Amino acid sequence: MNQIIKLSLVDMKEKDNLENIEVEELDITDSEIVQEILDTIGLGVRRNIKDILYYIIPSLQKEQILDSSNSVIHLRISGDGRNVGRKIKHVMITVMILNYENYHHNPNYYYTIALYPGSEKYDTVKFILDPFIEELRSLKEDGLEIAGILWKFILYFSSDWKFLAICLGLNSANSKYFCPWCLCSKNQIGDLKHGLFNNMTRKVILDEMKRLKVFFQFWENKDSHNWEYTSLVGEDKKKVLEHFNLELLFRPSCATLIRKLWDEFNLLYCALKNKKTNLLEFKNQAKDWLTLFLTPSSGNPNDFKNFTKGLYLPNQITPYMHALVFHGWEFIKKHKQWGVKAFSCSAVEKKNHQQVSTFFRKTFKNGGNLSRKKPAIQEIMEYENRILYFNYNSLPKPNKIKKICIK
Ligand SMILES: [Zn+2]
Repeated sequence: MNQIIKLSLVDMKEKDNLENIEVEELDITDSEIVQEILDTIGLGVRRNIKDILYYIIPSLQKEQILDSSNSVIHLRISGDGRNVGRKIKHVMITVMILNYENYHHNPNYYYTIALYPGSEKYDTVKFILDPFIEELRSLKEDGLEIAGILWKFILYFSSDWKFLAICLGLNSANSKYFCPWCLCSKNQIGDLKHGLFNNMTRKVILDEMKRLKVFFQFWENKDSHNWEYTSLVGEDKKKVLEHFNLELLFRPSCATLIRKLWDEFNLLYCALKNKKTNLLEFKNQAKDWLTLFLTPSSGNPNDFKNFTKGLYLPNQITPYMHALVFHGWEFIKKHKQWGVKAFSCSAVEKKNHQQVSTFFRKTFKNGGNLSRKKPAIQEIMEYENRILYFNYNSLPKPNKIKKICIK
């Protein structure tokens, strides 16, 4: 298999400067994993996308996922960097064939193109991806001929905000011109603030999370002394969004208002993922939601009886909210065929997490593999090749199946 889809090791030394990297929330803190990653720094590994396509396209045709009478392949490219320890990231770039609709959220159908431990920066990403960029250009311009069929390609890119901004050579979500889709500046929208919890509210939040059976922690960042907390994803986030009892933290009138804000956000979130959502309705619903977010206070602040506290100020609108409200309807319109949900980052994030936690442990590397000291990233790519093989070749069935009758 490693002959069919070749792996190339890339010397990244001096291409990656790890100075001046901001400390972010840590995804992986296991010291054994961190040390293994540090030992592999300076090395990257790549696979050629055309090798992968030559291998899988005939199978996809057999499975009727691809149709030679409509020979268009929709290729999604994604990137993800996972923080390992304080300074290093496990950076991966993947491709996914969107035509494979049942597997939009299955990490095994995201094929890793490049991997390296290091930093998530424009120059580094560009260095390791140079050949890939050339391959993509050729796929887009010339297509790819396999067994007399010329396949055409439509390319998509999706990742979290930070990776997207890096690849576009743009700014990240916390810089002045943050938006990849318009020229809105941060002065016009505001800042992200963290760490507004005291001991009592932290306790209330932890107890409520326990009630909801959601894993959640607070910890103090040793450098900034800010309180950080588990970022919720997937089902946990949904559970908190739908069921967190806000009256534990706010006065009833305020709790009702925030509950309404969260409920309507949930509706928007579901509408965004639904291919059948009406564009105009979504656009209006999103603007109404922003108006609700900006509910002003009313009455006289000195007259407690007649005063109702509002919600948030315009400078508290985050870049993510900006994208949802002003560009969400554009995404739905543009990606009608596969739906916005097809571009969720969760499968790629999951894949990255799995790779790091499995392959960077010494126990794994040495287990039955004492004589061959391969770099972990090479082990990962070889494993990926094996997955590709098993995804497209059903295992031979044993000839005789013994039936056991239990009386
Ligand atoms: Zn914008």
